[in-house]
Amino acid sequence: MPRSGSKKPKPNSTQTRRSVRRSAPVSVVTGGAGFLGSHLVDRLLDEGHRVIAIDNLVTGSVENIQHLAGNPSFRFIKQDVTEFLYLHGPVDYVWHFASPASPIDYLELPIQTLKVGSLGTHKALGLAKAKGARFLLASTSEIYGDPLVHPQTEDYWGNVNTIGPRGCYDESKRFAEALVMAYHREHDIQTRIVRIFNTYGPRMRLNDGRVVPAFVSQAMRGKPLTVFGDGSQTRSFCFCSDLIDGIYRLMMSREIYPVNIGNPVELTMVEFARAIKAATGSKSKLVFRPLPQDDPKQRRPDITRAKRLLKWAPQVGLEEGLKRTIKYFGSKVF
Ligand code: UDP
Repeated sequence: MPRSGSKKPKPNSTQTRRSVRRSAPVSVVTGGAGFLGSHLVDRLLDEGHRVIAIDNLVTGSVENIQHLAGNPSFRFIKQDVTEFLYLHGPVDYVWHFASPASPIDYLELPIQTLKVGSLGTHKALGLAKAKGARFLLASTSEIYGDPLVHPQTEDYWGNVNTIGPRGCYDESKRFAEALVMAYHREHDIQTRIVRIFNTYGPRMRLNDGRVVPAFVSQAMRGKPLTVFGDGSQTRSFCFCSDLIDGIYRLMMSREIYPVNIGNPVELTMVEFARAIKAATGSKSKLVFRPLPQDDPKQRRPDITRAKRLLKWAPQVGLEEGLKRTIKYFGSKVF
């Protein structure tokens, strides 16, 4: 829109950017080649966004985004998000998903995990600030540590061993949440924080050590399912499309405080192993292995806030979700 002389107030940079904004919103997804990042990219393209995915491919994979090659609305940049992010042109939404996220990944990459949660979040927030974009942090149920409150509500502050093997992930995400709130309060950025509970589905790495790919691949190969500890520890598993839907709704909502997104159906790991055996038709036995240090004993999201604020609840049950996941792993296992 043309501006006429000095009588009108000078627009700030955000207003200028908005005035030249095109119809398609622009989203930046850090970790866009990862398991959840790539599903988010697909959802955003479906919603009509132009999407720029940034990933250093440490735990992500181009395989997750190869179906987007040649799509004019999609661009991939191979970069470590802890380094300065320069992008030409407007950005409307920054979705910060970059991080190793499985226990064996962050055990192997503790410093990179701490750096992406701290320096990476700082750079991604800096990008959002420079562009006047809305920002969403992919946080985690790990910020609750080995929780003493069950199920976990967002107002629980957690029980984290800062110096234990999971501390690098838990604390980097806790720091990230604090940094997001500081940017919100200090720079008036529109921010969102999702606390993601255990999620599964196609594009998980077969060897990422998490229980879903571990049990599914063991069951499909007829190998024993390795249950850690006595298998009485619990988790609640959300199918990836449900999770992405909750996160999309959160970004588009007005809620600045953290929201749990996950499926509240809770199973012990022994029950889960049996569910995988049933879903794959496997006759594998269960074998018991030592419980990793600080492995949370129980985890289940309280999703009252997500239901109320986002009108969201999971739609895909375990049986259906496992069917789709097993189909994906079918092509990878043998
Ligand atoms: N687990 C298991 N066998 C495996 C891998 C994991 O029994 O081969 C257990 C693990 O000890 C934990 C639960 O499954 O209690 C979920 O582990 P995962 O690594 O998937 O994620 P977490 O929820 O611990 O971050």
